[in-house]
Amino acid sequence: MAGVGRRYRYVGPADVQASAADVPEGWPVRSPVDLDTYLAAADPRDHDEPFTYVIDLDATLRLAPRRSEHVACAGGGEVLGAGEIAFADERGGWVVTEVSNHSTGYCPDPTSWTAVAGALDKAGICHPECFTAAVVFRRCLDCGERNLVRDDDYICALCGAELPEDVEPRLVAQPSTDQRSR
Ligand SMILES: [Zn+2]
Repeated sequence: MAGVGRRYRYVGPADVQASAADVPEGWPVRSPVDLDTYLAAADPRDHDEPFTYVIDLDATLRLAPRRSEHVACAGGGEVLGAGEIAFADERGGWVVTEVSNHSTGYCPDPTSWTAVAGALDKAGICHPECFTAAVVFRRCLDCGERNLVRDDDYICALCGAELPEDVEPRLVAQPSTDQRSR
Protein backbone atom coordinates (compact mmCIF):
# COMPACT_ATOMS: atom_id res chain seq x y z
CA MET A 1 0.00 0.00 0.00
CA ALA A 2 1.55 3.28 -1.09
CA GLY A 3 1.29 6.53 0.82
CA VAL A 4 1.73 5.16 4.33
CA GLY A 5 3.73 7.53 6.47
CA ARG A 6 5.46 10.75 5.71
CA ARG A 7 7.19 11.36 2.38
CA TYR A 8 10.66 12.87 2.28
CA ARG A 9 12.05 14.73 -0.69
CA TYR A 10 15.73 15.09 -1.39
CA VAL A 11 17.24 18.02 0.52
CA GLY A 12 20.93 17.48 -0.24
CA PRO A 13 23.26 19.26 -2.67
CA ALA A 14 22.01 19.71 -6.24
CA ASP A 15 25.31 18.53 -7.77
CA VAL A 16 25.00 15.19 -5.94
CA GLN A 17 21.47 14.81 -7.29
CA ALA A 18 22.68 15.63 -10.81
CA SER A 19 25.55 13.13 -10.65
CA ALA A 20 23.13 10.48 -9.36
CA ALA A 21 20.98 10.74 -12.49
CA ASP A 22 23.13 8.23 -14.43
CA VAL A 23 23.28 5.70 -11.57
CA PRO A 24 20.73 2.87 -11.61
CA GLU A 25 18.04 2.81 -8.92
CA GLY A 26 18.47 0.57 -5.92
CA TRP A 27 17.67 -3.14 -6.17
CA PRO A 28 14.06 -3.79 -5.09
CA VAL A 29 13.66 -6.38 -2.32
CA ARG A 30 10.16 -7.83 -2.24
CA SER A 31 11.06 -11.31 -0.96
CA PRO A 32 13.87 -13.23 0.77
CA VAL A 33 14.85 -14.50 -2.71
CA ASP A 34 15.34 -10.90 -3.92
CA LEU A 35 17.65 -10.30 -0.96
CA ASP A 36 19.55 -13.55 -1.56
CA THR A 37 20.04 -12.60 -5.20
CA TYR A 38 21.30 -9.15 -4.34
CA LEU A 39 23.71 -10.28 -1.63
CA ALA A 40 25.01 -13.14 -3.79
CA ALA A 41 25.90 -10.62 -6.50
CA ALA A 42 27.39 -8.07 -4.08
CA ASP A 43 31.07 -7.94 -3.29
CA PRO A 44 31.49 -10.33 -0.33
CA ARG A 45 33.61 -7.72 1.41
CA ASP A 46 30.50 -5.51 1.48
CA HIS A 47 28.54 -8.01 3.54
CA ASP A 48 30.11 -6.78 6.77
CA GLU A 49 29.41 -3.16 5.93
CA PRO A 50 26.04 -1.47 5.85
CA PHE A 51 24.29 -1.00 2.54
CA THR A 52 22.53 2.15 1.43
CA TYR A 53 18.75 1.73 1.44
CA VAL A 54 15.63 3.68 0.71
CA ILE A 55 11.96 2.82 1.06
CA ASP A 56 10.36 3.94 -2.19
CA LEU A 57 6.83 5.32 -2.52
CA ASP A 58 5.52 1.81 -3.22
CA ALA A 59 6.75 0.97 0.31
CA THR A 60 9.43 -1.31 -1.16
CA LEU A 61 12.96 -1.65 0.22
CA ARG A 62 15.66 -0.75 -2.33
CA LEU A 63 19.34 -1.54 -1.75
CA ALA A 64 22.51 -0.06 -3.20
CA PRO A 65 26.18 -0.60 -2.42
CA ARG A 66 27.64 1.05 0.64
CA ARG A 67 28.50 4.73 0.17
CA SER A 68 26.00 5.04 -2.67
CA GLU A 69 23.98 8.23 -2.62
CA HIS A 70 20.47 7.75 -1.29
CA VAL A 71 19.10 9.97 -4.03
CA ALA A 72 20.56 7.60 -6.65
CA CYS A 73 19.14 4.57 -4.83
CA ALA A 74 15.75 6.32 -4.94
CA GLY A 75 15.99 7.16 -8.64
CA GLY A 76 15.86 10.84 -7.68
CA GLY A 77 12.37 10.54 -6.22
CA GLU A 78 10.78 10.96 -2.82
CA VAL A 79 11.08 8.24 -0.20
CA LEU A 80 9.26 6.97 2.89
CA GLY A 81 12.56 6.15 4.58
CA ALA A 82 16.32 6.06 3.96
CA GLY A 83 19.47 5.10 5.79
CA GLU A 84 21.95 2.29 6.20
CA ILE A 85 21.24 -1.39 6.71
CA ALA A 86 23.36 -4.48 7.41
CA PHE A 87 22.50 -8.18 7.20
CA ALA A 88 23.82 -11.40 8.66
CA ASP A 89 23.17 -15.00 7.68
CA GLU A 90 21.39 -16.54 10.63
CA ARG A 91 19.44 -19.75 10.87
CA GLY A 92 19.78 -20.27 7.13
CA GLY A 93 18.44 -16.89 6.06
CA TRP A 94 19.47 -13.26 5.91
CA VAL A 95 18.30 -11.11 8.82
CA VAL A 96 18.76 -7.41 9.51
CA THR A 97 21.39 -6.81 12.18
CA GLU A 98 21.75 -3.03 11.92
CA VAL A 99 19.47 -0.40 10.48
CA SER A 100 19.49 3.38 10.81
CA ASN A 101 17.78 6.44 9.36
CA HIS A 102 21.18 7.98 8.58
CA SER A 103 20.67 9.79 5.28
CA THR A 104 21.79 13.40 5.07
CA GLY A 105 20.23 13.53 1.59
CA TYR A 106 16.72 12.89 2.90
CA CYS A 107 16.98 13.55 6.66
CA PRO A 108 14.18 11.13 7.53
CA ASP A 109 12.66 11.41 10.99
CA PRO A 110 13.08 8.49 13.43
CA THR A 111 9.33 7.91 12.94
CA SER A 112 10.17 6.64 9.45
CA TRP A 113 10.80 3.35 11.24
CA THR A 114 7.16 2.46 10.59
CA ALA A 115 7.80 2.52 6.83
CA VAL A 116 11.10 0.65 7.15
CA ALA A 117 9.60 -2.10 9.31
CA GLY A 118 6.61 -2.31 6.97
CA ALA A 119 8.83 -2.82 3.91
CA LEU A 120 10.91 -5.48 5.69
CA ASP A 121 7.78 -7.27 6.89
CA LYS A 122 6.36 -7.15 3.36
CA ALA A 123 9.56 -8.75 2.06
CA GLY A 124 9.53 -11.39 4.79
CA ILE A 125 12.86 -10.36 6.31
CA CYS A 126 13.43 -10.54 10.07
CA HIS A 127 14.52 -7.27 11.65
CA PRO A 128 15.10 -5.54 15.00
CA GLU A 129 12.15 -3.88 16.75
CA CYS A 130 13.44 -0.37 16.12
CA PHE A 131 16.33 1.47 14.48
CA THR A 132 19.59 0.18 15.96
CA ALA A 133 20.87 3.73 15.46
CA ALA A 134 18.30 6.54 15.19
CA VAL A 135 19.47 9.92 14.01
CA VAL A 136 17.72 13.27 14.57
CA PHE A 137 18.16 15.78 11.76
CA ARG A 138 17.33 19.47 11.93
CA ARG A 139 17.93 22.21 9.42
CA CYS A 140 19.24 25.47 10.86
CA LEU A 141 16.71 28.26 10.25
CA ASP A 142 19.51 30.84 10.29
CA CYS A 143 22.14 29.40 7.93
CA GLY A 144 20.39 26.45 6.28
CA GLU A 145 22.94 23.88 7.42
CA ARG A 146 21.58 20.36 7.88
CA ASN A 147 22.56 19.24 11.36
CA LEU A 148 22.73 15.87 13.00
CA VAL A 149 21.51 16.44 16.57
CA ARG A 150 23.57 14.62 19.19
CA ASP A 151 22.81 14.30 22.89
CA ASP A 152 19.73 16.53 22.60
CA ASP A 153 22.05 19.41 21.79
CA TYR A 154 19.89 21.55 19.48
CA ILE A 155 22.65 23.92 18.38
CA CYS A 156 23.80 24.47 14.79
CA ALA A 157 27.31 23.09 14.30
CA LEU A 158 28.04 25.71 11.65
CA CYS A 159 26.73 29.00 13.07
CA GLY A 160 25.78 28.21 16.68
CA ALA A 161 22.12 29.19 16.30
CA GLU A 162 19.41 27.27 18.14
CA LEU A 163 17.84 24.50 16.09
CA PRO A 164 14.08 23.91 16.09
CA GLU A 165 13.11 21.08 18.42
CA ASP A 166 10.01 20.28 16.41
CA VAL A 167 10.37 18.54 13.06
CA GLU A 168 11.28 21.22 10.61
CA PRO A 169 8.55 21.45 7.98
CA ARG A 170 10.90 22.20 5.11
CA LEU A 171 12.53 18.80 5.54
CA VAL A 172 9.18 17.19 4.82
CA ALA A 173 7.85 16.69 1.33
CA GLN A 174 4.67 18.53 0.53
CA PRO A 175 1.65 16.75 -0.92
CA SER A 176 1.33 16.50 -4.70
CA THR A 177 0.63 20.23 -5.05
CA ASP A 178 4.40 20.71 -4.74
CA GLN A 179 5.30 19.91 -8.34
CA ARG A 180 8.92 20.26 -9.21
CA SER A 181 9.72 22.29 -12.28
CA ARG A 182 11.44 20.34 -15.03
ZN1 LIG B 1 23.29 27.53 11.41
